[in-house]
Amino acid sequence: MQSAKELAQIVRELTRGHNAWFRDSIPLIASENVMSPLAREVMNSDLHNRYAEGLPGKRYYQGNIFVDQIETLCENLAKEVFRCKFADVRSTSGTVSNLAVLMAVAKPRDKMTTVALSDGGHISHAKIGATGLRGVRTYSYPFDEKNMNIDVQGAKRLIREVKPKVALFGQSVYLFPTPLDEIKEVFAEVNCTTWYDAAHVMGLIAGGRFQDPLRQGIDVVSGSTHKTLPGPQHGMIISDLGKESLETSLRRGVFPGVTSNHHLHSVAALAVTLAEAKEFGEAYADQTVRNAKALGEALHERDMDVLCEHLGFTESHTIVVDVERYHGGAKVARALEEANIILNKNLLPWDSDPVKPHGVRIGSQELTRLGMKEAQMVEIAELIARVVVKEEPPANVKPDVVALKRQFTKLHYCFFEGEEAYDYPTYDGNLS
Ligand SMILES: *Cc1c(COP(=O)(O)O)cnc(C)c1O
Repeated sequence: MQSAKELAQIVRELTRGHNAWFRDSIPLIASENVMSPLAREVMNSDLHNRYAEGLPGKRYYQGNIFVDQIETLCENLAKEVFRCKFADVRSTSGTVSNLAVLMAVAKPRDKMTTVALSDGGHISHAKIGATGLRGVRTYSYPFDEKNMNIDVQGAKRLIREVKPKVALFGQSVYLFPTPLDEIKEVFAEVNCTTWYDAAHVMGLIAGGRFQDPLRQGIDVVSGSTHKTLPGPQHGMIISDLGKESLETSLRRGVFPGVTSNHHLHSVAALAVTLAEAKEFGEAYADQTVRNAKALGEALHERDMDVLCEHLGFTESHTIVVDVERYHGGAKVARALEEANIILNKNLLPWDSDPVKPHGVRIGSQELTRLGMKEAQMVEIAELIARVVVKEEPPANVKPDVVALKRQFTKLHYCFFEGEEAYDYPTYDGNLS
């Protein structure tokens, strides 16, 4: 039997092992990122130990004098960065944000139009997830597989036919902006609430490098704050209608709806992240999209079937590769992991078997934060192709992955630029 000391030491070693592994790996998961030094500093503070419920100035707990100022500052930064009148920064993740919005804008049995899971929609938009929990009925937009986007005429027809209470947009496989300008005339016709889930593209929107849904007929935007927005694992909700009844419902949806304490250390880290987005967000978002396009092009040149070549592969941080010719998504993702290249298998719209997806999804946002540019995207494409196309043993490729990555372990587009991304405070000595 292992002692408590030994077990605690094992957790410590595993955590160190994970850190060391990621320092030496190429991170390509499209939903992940690395926080800035300053965000990490405030994240590790005493704020983590405290409770606050409700809104600044109207709390249920004492001890929130500084917390109130931090949260107010965070909300104001969110309103500035996303150019809007309302922000709630208390939801503790993207899914929790979505639950809060569902609670605010829909009742059980209401109808909602969404992007299907197989077309890149998120599990929280589906019957098996948060949407089903709320008892909301879903109807999927027809999808244009060639252009990897909602079919405009089909979506308009669906919304006119279904007359949903809520029209939801936004995806987890998100290559191109949703054609909201082309669809929006039907919103008023059926008088639906319009909702956009920006989880993946929050950082691109902040940097002005994707669509701006609040300027395109969308009532409420929800999202995660840790995907292209490189903040803490948290959520937020914004709106620009200035409609008090909606804002009150959204506030109540978050608390008491789906949270009690709202992770105060994360709110502080989010405030820092938003301040950094204000200062560096445009340059970061621009390079992120450039890198995704460059990686798409370089993989295409190496005989990989990157989707949407005719559209320049992507307008976001994400590209999708059809790897059916190379034994499918699961096998490719596992082989690359052995070479320290981390990505995920992904369903393609035409996949019939959900357990054997033919795609992989790749994101450029984290590499961009680590200072990589187009030249490194070409190097990474070559490393991927050596494993996938040339079928070199992953163990042979791994040393070259490590060598490349060791040149890019410092953070960019933030205050204290150049600090190490993978260092964290530790205490001396072993427990066992
Ligand atoms: C990731 C994602 C979410 C969920 O976010 P979490 O922060 O992981 O809960 C919600 N919606 C979309 C579209 C996503 O991609």
